[in-house]
Amino acid sequence: MYPDLKLFVAGEWRKTASDLPVVNPATEKEIGRLPHASKNDLDDALDAAESGLRIWSRTAPRDRSDIILRAAKLMRERQEEIAQSITAEHGKPLQQARMEVIRGAEFFEWDAGEALRTYGRVIPAAPGNKITVHHHPVGVVAAFSPWNFPMSQPARKIAGALASGCSIILKAAEETPAGAIHIARAFQDAGLPPGVFNLVFGTPSEISEYLIPQDAVRLVAFTGSTNVGRHLTTLASEHMTPVLMELGGHAPVIVCEDTNVDRAAISGAERKMRNAGQVCTSPTRFFVHESIFEDYANAFVKRAAETVVGDGTIVNVEMGPLANDRRVPALLQLVEDARDKGADVRTGGGPHGNRGYFFQPTVLTNVPNEAKIMQEEPFGPIAIINPVTSLDEAIQKANSVPFGLAGYAFTNRADYIDQMIDEVEVGNLSINTLEASLPETPFGGVKSSGYGREGGSEGIENYMTIKNVWHSSEII
Ligand code: NAD
Repeated sequence: MYPDLKLFVAGEWRKTASDLPVVNPATEKEIGRLPHASKNDLDDALDAAESGLRIWSRTAPRDRSDIILRAAKLMRERQEEIAQSITAEHGKPLQQARMEVIRGAEFFEWDAGEALRTYGRVIPAAPGNKITVHHHPVGVVAAFSPWNFPMSQPARKIAGALASGCSIILKAAEETPAGAIHIARAFQDAGLPPGVFNLVFGTPSEISEYLIPQDAVRLVAFTGSTNVGRHLTTLASEHMTPVLMELGGHAPVIVCEDTNVDRAAISGAERKMRNAGQVCTSPTRFFVHESIFEDYANAFVKRAAETVVGDGTIVNVEMGPLANDRRVPALLQLVEDARDKGADVRTGGGPHGNRGYFFQPTVLTNVPNEAKIMQEEPFGPIAIINPVTSLDEAIQKANSVPFGLAGYAFTNRADYIDQMIDEVEVGNLSINTLEASLPETPFGGVKSSGYGREGGSEGIENYMTIKNVWHSSEII
């Protein structure tokens, strides 16, 4: 089921002189060899993207939309094959991989609709004058997508670029290349002109440092850690190239005293362990009113400890391994630091099993502010549950990190909800649900969590420039 791994440049698949293994994180076995792009491959991708842009930017929006919808339909039809590849390279449970394929297709379907709605505006003007505002595709996009959602992360960026009439060079994650390869296949089969979408892999820093300074590149779109995002933004700023940055989160969950304790705790534990916690919106810092703290923590710990961990191909497995071997020591170090500083490790706390990059579902309570994990996003299956005495204290703690991506709250009190809408510093606030976004909602962060929005009617705006046209019917 796992595809033959290749680059996709100028509408053709290519192997290269050098390649590196792709490893199944549940078994640690090699499942494919991924070709790495040379500078010549990148130059070819740039040439292709420039000629692709000339064709695609002049293709009628309705025709662009039709091709995107055709590709999305193929992805839906190929759901099982794509999901199997995702589970093999990423480790997530097959059912979650199947849902990811559908979510990826939905991103394309939403943006296919948005392609038809990039309206301009007419500005009232003096007689004999017409002033109008027009949207144009920004140009060639250099995009970089991470490994936590091998299909839906690339989908967001490709969808925005193609819907707006841009061409794109995507460097998808080397750990999880198959999702993006399946997307490229679907677009090839759907009749996308060659060069509009190019897919490369290689050494991330070499590729970004080569592509970003190129004159042809007019937008840098990245999802990943804040540190890398900052580096790419600095590179782009030297060339006045705009950026779209979806970066780290460290999502707070404010649990008020009036909530249904069991339901809130169980849904919190289940959502924390989804994708092994490797989600930028993953609920992580739980601030629970002191009056319900013990009951909440007990119910949460019980459900977390019951999580079925294993190879994602096994039915009933709820949580797979971490996506790569770097993450296991990184998480272990955060837990040990918290324990040393006085936190209680209520369940888990270390690697799971003796093969694969598994980590135990972990719950820490009473974690002191000095612990590194209070400021550093764990990006793994670790929950922090701390008591608070008031909503003011919870909000102050929620806002006490440099991140502001997703935030959650459990309460039915209207005054609490109003206060949180005004005061919690995040791009996405969800109340009584741990869902953070849909294709039709704008998604993105404040503070160090990034810049710009993906999805919603705002998403496509990143991929467009604005031209104001003043037309006087006589020379004035
Ligand atoms: P990392 O920052 O090294 O890599 C994250 C992603 O960025 C990877 O896909 C990688 O290929 C890419 N990348 C890294 N350096 C790059 C460069 N110079 N140019 C272009 N792309 C580059 O971190 P990691 O060890 O792979 O993952 C751990 C951290 O990454 C986590 O702590 C988490 O905050 C962040 N992350 C965030 C998301 C997200 O959805 N926001 C996804 C994956 C990882």
